[in-house]
Amino acid sequence: MGRFHLLRKALQSDVRKRTLSSLAPSRSRSFSQLSSPSQQRPSFGVAFDIDGVILLGNSPVGGSPEALRRLYDSTGSLRIPFVFLTNGGGYPEAERASELSQILGINISSSQVLQGHSPFRQLVSRFENEFVVAAGKGEPAAVMSEYGFKNVLTIDEYASCFEHIDPLASYKKWTTKNVKVNESTPRNDVFSNRVQAAFIVSDPVDWSRDIQSDFGVLGGLLFLMGGSEIMTIMCLPGRNIGPQPHLYFANDDLEYQTAFPSERLGMGAFRIALESIFNSIHSQPLKYTSFGKPNPSVFQNAEIVLQQLVPPLHNDVHAINNNDAQHFKTLYMIGDNPAVDMRGARQTGHPWFSILTRTGVFKGKENHHEFPADLVVNTVEEAVDYILKKECGS
Ligand SMILES: [Mg+2]
Repeated sequence: MGRFHLLRKALQSDVRKRTLSSLAPSRSRSFSQLSSPSQQRPSFGVAFDIDGVILLGNSPVGGSPEALRRLYDSTGSLRIPFVFLTNGGGYPEAERASELSQILGINISSSQVLQGHSPFRQLVSRFENEFVVAAGKGEPAAVMSEYGFKNVLTIDEYASCFEHIDPLASYKKWTTKNVKVNESTPRNDVFSNRVQAAFIVSDPVDWSRDIQSDFGVLGGLLFLMGGSEIMTIMCLPGRNIGPQPHLYFANDDLEYQTAFPSERLGMGAFRIALESIFNSIHSQPLKYTSFGKPNPSVFQNAEIVLQQLVPPLHNDVHAINNNDAQHFKTLYMIGDNPAVDMRGARQTGHPWFSILTRTGVFKGKENHHEFPADLVVNTVEEAVDYILKKECGS
């Protein structure tokens, strides 16, 4: 298994070099600490969804750069604690923070980026040395290695070890990236060891891209292929089926907003497809765990991270003596997806206050009927304006 770790590392290092070279150099000033401990500790914090609120694709939307800059003081230090709370992902938090810093013109620390797959980190103790497979766009295995998983392959790498595993491979002329596995690498580990867990780190690529196109028949075929890729790892490929490995999804979003005018299907749609097919084939239903919003645990974890962004005051004897974390009066969740962002904040309850924007999934004139927000605004800029007027009078 150690050999595969080396293979994984070699592949990652290539990708990492290419990715990092395209990012802007880090700014010299540190923005990761709140501006002055002598100031009053803020009694509120903000969590921003990304897709449909801050960005559409890779472009800012709703005046997001200007809105976020208002959360820093004139010296560029953070004055209002905020995090990005997204169900998206596919890249390690540090890379995502660098990318957001470049796009938005502010310096964001990796601790401010909470992605759908961030809770996978909590499973390291269980699967640290086990053979696991990671699926999804971006660098799913790099994400898992960063968290501490030591024996992880992408599903592309894993499938490439088995000849004829994909009956449609020869038709995939449009595939832009061919997985190259070092021929000198022994494959005994893959052939003799069962996959113990599969992690859907980000949106699976082939099926999700094409099922949403107008080519219904092709979409249907790829849909099946996406399912069979995952189902293949339920056993040693081509042999008798064994117990189902653990299966984890980074989120369960049915839809999300990109630069395309209408919503796109997300990981939740893939989960429904996989579960439906799996359950029609096997006598035992598919077992899985989904993370991400709207699970209240995600919001509770965000509160802990926001607390850690606020340093204790030197003269705050009560806080020091009681090891008392910052207790916020209000935490604002700004999102575009009522079923995910608003529902999650409302379910979690105090101190969360939900603000729904119209720049993404939600485009209604009134509040959403099933998962209403505490406040509906047009853009994230309007949301930040409301918060700062209410909290700071400015
Ligand atoms: Mg969104």
